[in-house]
Amino acid sequence: MEAVVLGSGTSTGVPCLGIDYPAEFLADPRNHRTRPSLAVLGREATLLVDCTPDLRTQLLREGIRRVDAVVLTHSHADHMMGMDDLRPLCRVLGRPMPIYTHQRYLDDVRRVFPYAFRSFPEGIEVPRFDLAEMPDRLEVGDIQAERLDVLHGDWPVLALRIADFAYVTDVSAIPPPAWRRLQGLKTLILDAVRRRPHPNHFHLERALEVAAELRAQTTYLTHLCDEFDHGPTEARLPPGVRLAYDGLRIPL
Ligand SMILES: [Zn+2]
Repeated sequence: MEAVVLGSGTSTGVPCLGIDYPAEFLADPRNHRTRPSLAVLGREATLLVDCTPDLRTQLLREGIRRVDAVVLTHSHADHMMGMDDLRPLCRVLGRPMPIYTHQRYLDDVRRVFPYAFRSFPEGIEVPRFDLAEMPDRLEVGDIQAERLDVLHGDWPVLALRIADFAYVTDVSAIPPPAWRRLQGLKTLILDAVRRRPHPNHFHLERALEVAAELRAQTTYLTHLCDEFDHGPTEARLPPGVRLAYDGLRIPL
């Protein structure tokens, strides 16, 4: 089983539209970051975590042809607006796509994609969603994902633990129950949006403090903005902390 970082960027993506970057920055492919999401590839199934506006290009890039279920961590645009791209994947699956999210975001999905729940005449293809609240434990084929609840400013956000791997995107506080379940990890992927403090995200210094306390064998920082030039930034990180990049594959 492996986890694939589909996107390691912040909500604008990197490079950000309207900004000029030095040629040396653009020359490193790891500085090209699509919006934040993850795929977990099991032997029997693929679990997608979030549907960014870059979903189509991310799945094509990684050669992922089938998705068996989706976990939507929250309903912000950078995590949700690619859900229309699930249309051909519903055809592959032969049924409406199972979508699991926090109870608070069920209505957002219905409001933004009402056509995924309506019936249409034969021959018109729309995405179909089988929407449900994320259970405490989700089994998708041989993938067993445990639900963790964290906070992103005032928004509740789903994080996941799968065996000794955890994915915690969009987080500004980790309540005690989730904190306890983030112990003993081999690999943690953790939000570090920028260098200055942010009301809704861990910034670099806070993420490094949390990484040091949680002591995963390796912590990869994600949801990265354009302040992080991959090579020079990673060279200054403490041992065991690295920057995620698009296409990073982590064996589980
Ligand atoms: Zn968000």
